[in-house]
Parts: sequence; C-alpha cells; structure tokens
Amino acid sequence: GEFITVKEFAEKLNKPVAEVIKALIFTGIMAGINQEIDYETAEKAAKSLEVEVVKAKDDSSGISDDDQDDALDVNMEKRPPIVTVMGHVDHGKTSLLDAIRKAKVTESEAGGITQHIGAYTVTLNGEKITFLDTPGHEAFTAMRARGAQATDIVILVVAADDGIMPQTVEAINHCKAAQVPIIVAINKIDVEGANVDRVKQELTEYGLVAEEWGGDTICVPVSAKQRIGIDDLLEMVLLTAEVEELKADPNRKAAGTVVESELDKGRGPVATLLVQKGTLNVGDSILVGTTYGRIRAMFDDKGKKINSAGPSIPVEILGLSEVPQAGDKFNEVKDEKTARGMAEARKIKEKSLQQSTMRVSLEDLYSQVK
Ligand code: GDP
Ligand code: MG
Repeated sequence: GEFITVKEFAEKLNKPVAEVIKALIFTGIMAGINQEIDYETAEKAAKSLEVEVVKAKDDSSGISDDDQDDALDVNMEKRPPIVTVMGHVDHGKTSLLDAIRKAKVTESEAGGITQHIGAYTVTLNGEKITFLDTPGHEAFTAMRARGAQATDIVILVVAADDGIMPQTVEAINHCKAAQVPIIVAINKIDVEGANVDRVKQELTEYGLVAEEWGGDTICVPVSAKQRIGIDDLLEMVLLTAEVEELKADPNRKAAGTVVESELDKGRGPVATLLVQKGTLNVGDSILVGTTYGRIRAMFDDKGKKINSAGPSIPVEILGLSEVPQAGDKFNEVKDEKTARGMAEARKIKEKSLQQSTMRVSLEDLYSQVK
C-alpha cells in the first residue's frame, strides 16, 4: 500500500512516535500522530533515523488500497509541471497568477476566467503548466503538513523595490526542505526604485546564485502589472520541468490530492482534485481521506464539463458523501461499496487513535498533578 499513519510507521520502526515526528520535521514535513504519510516521505524520515525501509507488496494496515502499489506504474509518460507561487505579502503573487491566467486563457475560454477552482492549467507552445492558485503559503504548508507533496516547481516572487523579506526567506526554507526547485520572478521591474541586481545580491545570501552570476538559479525580471516577462517566465518553467523529467503513469487507477473543497448549497460537497497519477473518470469510485464517493460530474478549470482527467490536471468533482479537507489524498478504488468500507474503517481508526492520544495526555496530566 501507499500510505501509513505516523503512529503505525513508528510502530513498524519500533521507535517512539516523538522521535519519528522529529525525523519528519527534519525532512520538512510537519505531521501529527494520526496523519498519513506516503512511502517516499516515510523513506526519507527512516533514512534520517538511519533505518532502511523496503517497500512491501501488501500492507496489513487495512487502510490502504492494495491496487495502489507503485509497481503498477509501468508506462511512465511525461506530465505537465505543477507550480506554486510563493513570496512575501504584497510582492505580487496574486497579480502574477492573474497575469499568467489572463495572458494564456484564449478568447473562447474567456468566460471561464472568473471560474475559480484553486488550480488552473495554461498552455505555452503546446505544453501545459498547472498552477496551484492558492493564497499565500497556507495551502502549500497545509498540504505538506498532511504529507502531500503536490508541487514540482516553486515560482518565488520577490519585489524588485523591496528585496528579500521574512516570508521570502520562509518560502526559500520550505523549498529547500521539500527539495523543490525554485525559479525567482523578480517582480515590479516597472516601479521606480526597482533594483534587480540588488535582489540577486540578496539571494546569494540564501544560497541562490543567479545563472548569469555563475550559479544555477533562474531569475526572470517581470512586471505582473504591465505583463512584462510572463512568457519568459513560463518558458523557464517548462525548461525546469524538462530537466526534472516529470512523469506519471496515466493508465493506472487515479490518485492525487484535494486542493480545495466546500459544501455547495445546491450541489453538495464540491472538491477540486489534482490528479497526480492515473486517469480519473466520471463514474469512478474514490476514497478521499475519511470520505468517499462515486464521481457524478467533473469540470475542468474553465468550468467545462469533462469526462476524464490525467496526471497534473486539476478538476472539480461532484458526488462525494462529505466535504474532504484540502491536502487530503484521494485514491480510486474498485467500487463505491469498497470506498465506503475503507472510509468507515479510516474513521474508526482515526477516532480510536484520537482517544488513545487523549488518554496519554490525561495520564500525563494526572502524573503531574500527583
Ligand atoms: P500578493 O500579496 O503577493 O498577492 O501581492 P498582490 O498581487 O496583491 O500585489 C500587491 C500590490 O502590488 C498590488 O497593489 C498590486 O497591484 C501591486 N503590484 C503587483 N505586481 C506589480 C507590478 O509588477 N508592478 C507594479 N507597479 N505593481 C505591482
Ligand atoms: Mg495575494
């Protein structure tokens, strides 16, 4: 199977949970005892604990789907990069995401510009790029906290008139911990007092040396407001994606991450999913965190009804029994009955774990009172 809770992982390693949580933080993942982590995350944490882990064929936890073995990823194909924009407040993250969307959404799709599903895909020279259109760092951090890694490349926005600020540093640290490549967009070059070289100079203090200065950090001067440098920036994203050799098997059961979710009065639970592996189809049954459902309808980022979505494509779906949480993972399973059974098992498990955590803390409290 693919997922394991932190508690189960600690049990398997025969290590105290606190030590495992510490190891996870060390590898850049903030995870609680009940959170599920994927194999790659577990492997990284185990490495820092100097324990070797080997992927098992099956899993006795009862919460994983045995059809989801990574060994099934046989036909790896190129997939679009998934990009998150980060940076200090007011440096132009929202403006840049708007500029990219407006520059790349064609007239015929223009009606969809107002559509907001938390992620969108643009096309440059026939190649797709998916942007996670999330406010600030929260979603990225929340997803990573839940063990989900849904970003391939980060565009770090730095205002040319302001330079590196605390949240810029925070973003750099997140990327380093998660080993996500950074492309720097030096924004607001139209503003008086803009100083691109000063930003590059400041970046070197954080180990990011611009390519033109002999380093390997791509820096692109842009103006989100005046739409300068947008295509250059997107070209650099595609170039980086090429180097990263991003691939996924589109011919397996779908798996991915919840980007956004809400309860719509008329439509019920609505979720934006980012497909990361396989292909998701209308009619598929999925397990999402502790909820489940059979996909009744699916829409793309322009609000158009679609029937299927492959790797790196964001979709809005209807048909879930409850509203999942952003950062939850989803997996396609055999049928709705299986999905419901697994969701119920997860709920029971989560509850009992919460209770045992509570009991521990009550005992701690009691011994302190004594
Ligand atoms: P965020 O907090 O990082 O999302 O920043 P916003 O996109 O909300 O931008 C903050 C302010 O900077 C807004 O008033 C924008 O209009 C302005 N701004 C963003 N990009 C540019 C730019 O390239 N040039 C100029 N002159 N202003 C910009
Ligand atoms: Mg903003």
